[in-house]
Amino acid sequence: MVAIIGRPNVGKSSLFNRILSRRHAIVSEVSGTTRDRLIASASWNGRQFLLIDTGGLEDDPDGHIPQRVQQQADMAMGAADVIIFLTDAVQGLTATDQAVAQRLRRTDKPVMLAVNKVDNENRELAAAEFFQLGISETSFISAYHNYGVYDLLERMVDLLPTRELVEQWDDELRLSIVGRTNVGKSLLTNAILGEERSIVSPEAGTTRDALDTPITYRDHTITLVDTAGIRRPGQVQRGIEKYSVLRAVNAVHRSDITLLITDATELATAQDAHIAGLAWDTNRGLIVVVNKWDLVNPNRFRTERSLHRVHQRLHFMPYVPVSFTSALTGEGINELLDTALSLWMERQRRVPFRDLQYLLADAVSTHAPPSRRGNLRNRLRVRRVRQVGVNPPTFVFSVNDPKLLHFSYERYLENQIRERFGFHRTHLRLVFRAER
Ligand code: GDP
Repeated sequence: MVAIIGRPNVGKSSLFNRILSRRHAIVSEVSGTTRDRLIASASWNGRQFLLIDTGGLEDDPDGHIPQRVQQQADMAMGAADVIIFLTDAVQGLTATDQAVAQRLRRTDKPVMLAVNKVDNENRELAAAEFFQLGISETSFISAYHNYGVYDLLERMVDLLPTRELVEQWDDELRLSIVGRTNVGKSLLTNAILGEERSIVSPEAGTTRDALDTPITYRDHTITLVDTAGIRRPGQVQRGIEKYSVLRAVNAVHRSDITLLITDATELATAQDAHIAGLAWDTNRGLIVVVNKWDLVNPNRFRTERSLHRVHQRLHFMPYVPVSFTSALTGEGINELLDTALSLWMERQRRVPFRDLQYLLADAVSTHAPPSRRGNLRNRLRVRRVRQVGVNPPTFVFSVNDPKLLHFSYERYLENQIRERFGFHRTHLRLVFRAER
């Protein structure tokens, strides 16, 4: 994960769009999404990363600028692997820039300073003042004119941590609970933590995050991530708690499955779609929870109508499970936890190698990859497929040339895997690699 931070108008969105608009940079274009792309998948030199424009994720767009930028820096230090700190050569070095640089010294994560709008020699001379921030990775760029951006990316991918595709098996399910204010997150969390589910005490010697609360459910340990902001039952509600997108980003990032809580009387708003997109882009599991179900008139069509509404809003993820709950009466809480466990198991499923080769042979013989302009030498050949990881299930296809892959053929292969092996509710990750 790579975060771009910086004051307003320094060009964060331009840089973000510049990095994404390169034709080859876009690896996963979720078709038909209309949500603002503040987070997007990209790749450079074969390394994939998620890019976040933190400016669009601010808690409080009307707040003081220094505070807003500090907030971005905190989020980036928590969630990102590389931080791109963007400043503006025209406005020059400001006190806010200095304060941010100071704050960024606390992190061990790689920080790159990019001085933007350097598009002539005079500005280059002026930009030299930014060296006094003492950030060793400093470069001069112009996002608008596309100067220096490729060099920046070149350095950036070198700083990304190398991560094995095989993800770690973990027998503890981590759930995050996110959503807008007043949808019932606190009440629902308390309902999940309900007295009958004993709270597991952290084992001696483990350094469990103080914000997280583990419970036992059907002999599984489920950890609720970031429960610090949750009010205890009976506690008086203090003012209106501000919905924090930044906090949600961190919570999603730290969990296996996200419960996106929505209000049955005000379903699936744009903000809901945004958080859902975040879980999707980061390959996390997602369950949409329609809470306050007790407030909806019980009639024959209420479930169908709500499902339709949710799927309409989140049409880029047709597989997402939807649960109906009332945090107030406790209705649907067990079903929700059962759904979470079964989604989690689906995400941990491994398909035997042989079964995958049979599936591939069938799929290719039923529907051969189309050749480009009828030229057989330009035909995609899929030689093998392996499952290299779980959570989400990740499949690597060995092909002659990944550039020959068409989106519709990728979709087709994905659907074959889903149908044959019963992946009905989870995101799958498909990777296409040139066979050496
Ligand atoms: P949060 O801001 O998302 O944490 O929301 P709260 O848990 O504080 O709930 C906001 C308000 O909605 C409170 O007045 C709750 O009592 C109420 N509420 C939460 N869940 C339900 C529910 O399932 N049914 C009904 N009728 N009210 C609910």
